[in-house]
Amino acid sequence: MIVVLKPNISKKDEQAVLDEIKKLGYEPHVMRGVERTVVGAIGDERTHHTLETLTAWPQVESVMPVQKRYKLVSREAHRATSTIRVNKDVVIGGKEFVVMAGPCSVESETQLMTTAVAVKAAGAKVLRGGAFKPRTSPYEFQGLGEKGLKLLAKARQETGLAIITELLSQDHAEMIAEYTDIIQIGTRNAQNFQLLIAAAKTGKPVLLKRGLSMKIEEWLLAGEYILANDNPNLLFCERGIRTFETYTRNTLDLSTIPIIKKESHCPIVVDPSQGAGRADLVMTMCKGAAAMGADSLLIEVHPNPAEAWSDGAQQVTLEMFSQLMKDLRPFIAAAGRD
Ligand code: PEP
Ligand code: MN
Repeated sequence: MIVVLKPNISKKDEQAVLDEIKKLGYEPHVMRGVERTVVGAIGDERTHHTLETLTAWPQVESVMPVQKRYKLVSREAHRATSTIRVNKDVVIGGKEFVVMAGPCSVESETQLMTTAVAVKAAGAKVLRGGAFKPRTSPYEFQGLGEKGLKLLAKARQETGLAIITELLSQDHAEMIAEYTDIIQIGTRNAQNFQLLIAAAKTGKPVLLKRGLSMKIEEWLLAGEYILANDNPNLLFCERGIRTFETYTRNTLDLSTIPIIKKESHCPIVVDPSQGAGRADLVMTMCKGAAAMGADSLLIEVHPNPAEAWSDGAQQVTLEMFSQLMKDLRPFIAAAGRD
């Protein structure tokens, strides 16, 4: 940490700061400038007590950390991008660009099977579908629950697609893990740390959506909970953040693609459906995300979006999805992926 002292303090006040730094386990190195004295406190900031409390001392101007607060998710911990094996055929983070697609919510066998067959034919490798839905209003459709999970399992058996579905409650961790190949942690639960730990402990790959108003550092630290609980299979998912803009449902922050790539070895997935909240924008945002180096996309697809039980405005039709997969190819190739 760097501790900047106020100008013109007494030797005694300076010594008191140095003593405190030593007491907290750091080695102080004093650098004297013309006007200011700066102390470099050498020590592992993640394992020692923070020196930020020194900010409250009258002789201290400011305290700045130099180390990052996350460790296991960082690029420094693992130079190469991690590859996350979803099942025997699907790996995310490798050469292959993986598309995950399916309805916002599992509604019925016909709706899910029709979608599963169509997205598979178009080239998707993972079927999405919420069985437990985090809805803003308690009066909105909450999902089919375990019945929905059983339909997802059936779709996996019939199509060979891997499954991704959301975990809403710690109580359901084992049940969800039994049915799914990837556990989705939704935006509203991105900092529900007990839920993150429960998801990590299942050992399944975890897709961590960015919280509605989450800073990138907070998102990385939430991801750290997964790795710190012995599960290396983490996918970050950018799905848009809350801003002042109302033209779109959220503001899809594509700058997180290069940022996550720079800061972390974990793959980055982009969800343009929650991100834009509008079906007419999904295709363009997918192209941008693919060209910018995202490892995967998570797209909402519905056979009849007008009658969807959730998120109707942002789900693309089966035909739109099939066209999107074709139009996406040059952008995937431009990013050097298959
Ligand atoms: C979803 O994927 O349908 C969903 C609810 O996502 P988010 O948590 O990003 O809102
Ligand atoms: Mn949705």
